[in-house]
Amino acid sequence: MFANVVFYLPANVVEIVAHELEHVLEQVDGVPLQRLARVRGSGVAQVGPEDYETERASDVGRRVSTELDAARRERTDARPAEPAMSLSAVP
Ligand SMILES: [Zn+2]
Repeated sequence: MFANVVFYLPANVVEIVAHELEHVLEQVDGVPLQRLARVRGSGVAQVGPEDYETERASDVGRRVSTELDAARRERTDARPAEPAMSLSAVP
């Protein structure tokens, strides 16, 4: 018996995972989100009854995504160009 499981991941999955991991670190660090949400310019906003969004998490998500994109471009640029397929080679 086996199961065929397929996950469809959003294109920005790396950014989302990094963003959410930063929220975990905020909790580990004991960041007082509820209090900071009442402070203008703190980078914390209350987005639901018990939900908070932080610039810290958003910044980390974007930064990780940007770094990964740059690393992918570097790898692609360093790879030798593949020869173009000629139409006459296609059966
Ligand atoms: Zn968030």
